[in-house]
Amino acid sequence: MIDVVRDTEGIRLACIEIFEQEFQTGMIQRSLEGANEQTRERLMRSVPPLTISPGYERAARHLMGLDSQREAGLPMTGLANWEGNGLVALFEARLAHHAKHPECSRCKVRLVSRFVPECPNCGAKFTRKK
Ligand SMILES: [Zn+2]
Repeated sequence: MIDVVRDTEGIRLACIEIFEQEFQTGMIQRSLEGANEQTRERLMRSVPPLTISPGYERAARHLMGLDSQREAGLPMTGLANWEGNGLVALFEARLAHHAKHPECSRCKVRLVSRFVPECPNCGAKFTRKK
């Protein structure tokens, strides 16, 4: 992963893409409750595949794993230099993702954008702030 680990910007973009894919998958899963298995599978396949190369995906998922450990309270000692930088990139990627997909004020599901008039999950209506 020699090239990948030096490319913090690339890692940040990889993280954003993975978040986006997880978001799409989550939306489909929620809309599928009660659907039969074929419909489910077909829709799950409609989630666009990642365009990032496997090296970036590996690096990004590695960082996400580290980040979960950090959130669980495990001490982050002995991090490689790239891992430290990568965790910052992951943090920035998450901020960008959350800015793009704000959560519903009622049920906390993330929305397609801040412009949706109502929550597809709980039906809460949003009045746009002027
Ligand atoms: Zn909601």
